[in-house]
Order: sequence, then C-alpha cells, then structure tokens
Amino acid sequence: MTGTPSSISIPAELRPADGRFGSGPSKVRPEAVKALEARALDYLGTSHRRTGVRSVVGRLRAAMTELFGLGDGWEVVLGNGGSTGFWDAAAFSMIERRAQHLTFGEFSEKFSAVTAAAPHLDDPAVITAPYGSHPVPELDAGIDTYALTHNETSTGVAMSVAQPQLGASRHGTPPALVMVDATSAAGAMTWDPRDVDCYYFAPQKAFAADGGLFIALCSPAAIERIERIDASGRYKPATLDLAIAARNSRQDQTYNTPALATILLTLETAEWMLDGGGLAWAASRSATSSGAVYDWAADRDFASPFVADEAMRSPVVCTIDFEGVSADDIAAALRANDIVDTEGYRKLGRNQLRIAAFPAIEPSDAEALTACIDYIVERL
Ligand SMILES: *Cc1c(COP(=O)(O)O)cnc(C)c1O
Repeated sequence: MTGTPSSISIPAELRPADGRFGSGPSKVRPEAVKALEARALDYLGTSHRRTGVRSVVGRLRAAMTELFGLGDGWEVVLGNGGSTGFWDAAAFSMIERRAQHLTFGEFSEKFSAVTAAAPHLDDPAVITAPYGSHPVPELDAGIDTYALTHNETSTGVAMSVAQPQLGASRHGTPPALVMVDATSAAGAMTWDPRDVDCYYFAPQKAFAADGGLFIALCSPAAIERIERIDASGRYKPATLDLAIAARNSRQDQTYNTPALATILLTLETAEWMLDGGGLAWAASRSATSSGAVYDWAADRDFASPFVADEAMRSPVVCTIDFEGVSADDIAAALRANDIVDTEGYRKLGRNQLRIAAFPAIEPSDAEALTACIDYIVERL
C-alpha cells in the first residue's frame, strides 16, 4: 500500500505524547509554561530594574553556577541578542587580535565570518573539516582566542571541549582563551570548566526556553580579557560591550530590557535539571533519547546515522540519512500527525531528517518517534 505523506494517519498509541522534535526553537516543557502563567501578575509586566525581576535573574545566575559547577571568580553574564549577538559582542569585547576558528557547519562558519569581517581584528585562522566530522584546534602562539563549538547543530556533530594541546597557550602571559559556542549543548552535554574560558549559549535549545538572550559563563581569564579590552579604549557599541553586560549582570540586570518570559522559562529548566540530579542527569536523558534514535537507524536498511564516527555523533541532535525513501515525505507525514520540525537542515542538501534529543524531550517519545517513522516508511 502506498499513499501520499499527508494521507497517512499514525495510530494514537504509536505517537509520542509530545510531537516537538525541533533543534531550535525546541520543545518548551508545559510545566515551565504553567510556572510562567503562575507569575503572570507579579513578574510579567514588571520592571526589570526592580526586585521582582532581579531576584529571578539572580536565581538564574545561581542556578547556572551550580548546574555547571563554576568555580571561584567565574561570572554568569547575560545580555540581549542570542548567540548570534554574542558573536558580535565577542568580536568587540573578547577577541584581542586573532582568533582560531574550527568550522564544521553553518553556525561555526557564521562566527568565523564575523571575525573575518571585523576591521579591528586580524584575519582569523580557520581550520575546517568536512560536514559530518570536526577539526581539532592547533596550538599557535599568534592566536589569542580559540573558537570551538560543543555541538554543531546544523550537522549533528559534537566535539569534546577538552583540548589539552592548548594548555601552553591558555597558561601563557597573557593567556589565550577558549571560547565555546554551546548553544545546543549547554545543559545537555557534560564538560569541565577547567577546559574552557567562555561557554556561551542561548536558551531556546537544550534549555527549552525561548530565544533572544545570551548567557555567557566567563572564567576569571575571560573577565580579565573583557576588562583589558575595555581599558584599551577600543570602540565598542554599547549593546555589544561585554564590560557593560558584565557590570549589569553583577547587579542581576541586563543593559537594556530583556524578554522576561525567556528568563523565567530558562530558570524553570535550570531548576528542573538541578532537581532531577544536575547536568549529568540532564545529559543522560539526551544520551538515552539519541541512543535510541541511532540504534534504530543502524538497525534499519533504509536509515543510517549521517555522522560515521560514533565518537563525533551528537547526543542532542541526530542527523539520519535515508535511502530509498524520501526524508521530506517522512517529515511531511510526521507533520500531518502533529510530529513537527524533523526536517533536515536544508543547506546540507541530503536526504536526511534532523531529530532533537534535548533533555526536555522524553526518551520514551524519542523511541515512539522511531516507531512512527517505521509506520510511515511501510506506507509510503
Ligand atoms: C542556534 C545556534 C546559534 C544561533 O543562536 P541564536 O540564538 O539564534 O543567535 C549559534 N550556534 C549554534 C551552535 C546554534 O545551534
């Protein structure tokens, strides 16, 4: 029996309880939305310069410190503009002269384009790897900032942020910094703050909140760099000035008005993760969900994980290639059954689905999704 994708009706008992599998914006837990509703009168619509909102920002900063086990002198810096805005801020406020970028997908390429275009910076060193894999950073005395990506959301490739060969640079005078784009990894993958100086993200991915905010966890060395560049007199637009952002964050504020809902939703997820058992617990949820998807794909003739090297396979974003059946048709059939945002990343141009496995997604739902795809493939 063959049908058009939208005519396939998946039996209710096979469907996941929640059909959101997008890689960002991603599933927001209904419990978090309820918590937001509960604060509809005393938090939403109140001044971000007053105690009500500032105490939520303070709790958010404390929750991040605890969740990531940040040591003395680390600061949680917040501001508007999401991760893309943070790239611009880093070009003005964190990179001294020359960055080394590891590029292996859309997001890491975008950041390298930012520093390449910045007139006050030297041309960056760019180390690239084919999509589906990742490069490794190279120690270079001329580099003051190494730009890594914990999880390349576009290709479903993850890398370790521990790169001991950079130690010589990081402990030099002045020290080089390791900056990690953790937009889709933060809260879903474990890491050790000793390996990193700036771990930044936006909360619409693993933190199951909404976009618009950047959260940058900054080591003492990163703070020192921000302050040194500030003192140097380099021109910085105020909204991209991390010295201003850090000063406001210390007061539990942002430089200009933030999205209050985003902040509360992010806090809800962070506290949910802490209550559940912390970062390792949250990461294990992602590992269970993605493991189910990869195992299933390896087991099917028509599917296979895009990332050949198992060690590079993302535990949070599964890219699955299909053969003999159209991934677009599968995604369309899923969508017709309220299972959404599994479409592949267009620019990769592959016959592929991209399935998020963030902590907020129930592992049982990830498993149910694979059963739904089996059901669809039998009928296409
Ligand atoms: C989504 C994403 C970004 C962009 O985040 P915005 O908040 O939309 O700017 C950057 N880097 C990675 C790895 C991402 O997944």
